[in-house]
Amino acid sequence: MKVARNCYCNLWKKDPKALEDQGIPLGYCGICERCGKPGHVQHFPGPVPYTGTWCDHCVKIVPWTNITIWLKFIIPTLIISASIWYLFKFYQK
Ligand SMILES: [Zn+2]
Ligand SMILES: [Zn+2]
Repeated sequence: MKVARNCYCNLWKKDPKALEDQGIPLGYCGICERCGKPGHVQHFPGPVPYTGTWCDHCVKIVPWTNITIWLKFIIPTLIISASIWYLFKFYQK
């Protein structure tokens, strides 16, 4: 069964040289940011607007290990939710 991916694999049809130049093997469209194995460009598997390149293995663990994502998206989200919650409590009194 083929999994439909929202990645750059169709670049192999349009511009295979661009992928070959980066040393990416056929069937993949990127190199995993985490382990350096061939992988695919894909959306971060979580509620943040981030796209990266991961292999099928790392994409499952990257939500817990990618510090950049925590710093850029999750911590600000937590701070904003905490402030909203605080304001909400404050006005309830
Ligand atoms: Zn990987
Ligand atoms: Zn791909």
